[in-house]
Amino acid sequence: MSEHVIEVSNLSRHFGKKQALSDVSLSVPEGCVFGLVGENGAGKTTLLKHVLGFLKPQQGSVRVFGLDPVADPPGVLGRIGHLSENRDLPAWMTVRELIEFTRAFYPKWDPVYAEELRMMFELSLNQKVPTLSRGQLARAGLLVALAHRPPLLVLDEPSSGLDPVVRKDILDAIIRTVVDEGRTVLFSSHLLDEVQRVSDRIAILDQGKLLLTSPLDEVLVSHYQLTIRFLEP
Ligand code: ATP
Repeated sequence: MSEHVIEVSNLSRHFGKKQALSDVSLSVPEGCVFGLVGENGAGKTTLLKHVLGFLKPQQGSVRVFGLDPVADPPGVLGRIGHLSENRDLPAWMTVRELIEFTRAFYPKWDPVYAEELRMMFELSLNQKVPTLSRGQLARAGLLVALAHRPPLLVLDEPSSGLDPVVRKDILDAIIRTVVDEGRTVLFSSHLLDEVQRVSDRIAILDQGKLLLTSPLDEVLVSHYQLTIRFLEP
C-alpha cells in the first residue's frame, strides 16, 4: 500500500464555465488529521467527492489506499467513514433504526463500539431523526461514520451550523476516537481557528486553487493570521 492514504495529483474539475478545482495536488499520510480550509465555494466538497469516488477526475488523478476510488468503490468506500455536509440521514428513522440500517452495509460494524459512541454522544434510541438538534444530527452522523471502525474518515464540514460549544465537542470527539485508534482524517471547514486547533496538516483552498499545504507550524499560523477573511467573525 502507498505510504500516503490519500494522494491527489494535479486534479482539475470544472462545472460548465465554473472552475471548481485547478491543478490541486496533496497527500495525506497515514494517521494524520488533515484539515482542508476554504470559504464557501472554494472547492472543498468537490475535492472530498473525488476522494470518495463520487466524481471522476476530468484531469489529474486521485488514489485512496493506493486505489482508484471510482474504479474500486468497495475497496475504497468500504474503508471510509463519511459525513456529508448536509448529513443525509433518513428522516423517517429513529436513532435505533438508523443504527440497524447502517449496520447492514458494513461487515466490520462493531455493535459494542456503536453503543459506546451512542452513550458518549448522548443519543436516545427512540428519538426520530427529524427531531434531532443540529448538534445531535452531527453526532448521529458521526456515530454511523465511525462504528465500522474505518481506517479513514472523510468529514465535510463536521461542525457546520453548530454553536461554538457543540462545535468544539464534535471535533474533540472525532479527535479522541482518531488519536485512540490511529485513524487518518480528512475534514473540511471554513473556520481556520478550529482547523488550526485539531489538525496536523492543513491545506488552504481558494477559488479552486490550493494556496498552501503544510504541517501546522508557527510560520503558517502567523502567516494566516493575516488572512482574516478565513477567521470567524
Ligand atoms: P461550501 O462550503 O459552500 O460547500 P465548497 O468549498 O465545498 O463550498 P464546492 O461545493 O466544492 O465548494 O463548490 C465549488 C464551486 O463549484 C462552487 O462555485 C459551486 O457552485 C460549484 N459546483 C459544485 N458542484 C457543482 C455542480 N454539481 N454543478 C455546478 N456547479 C457546482
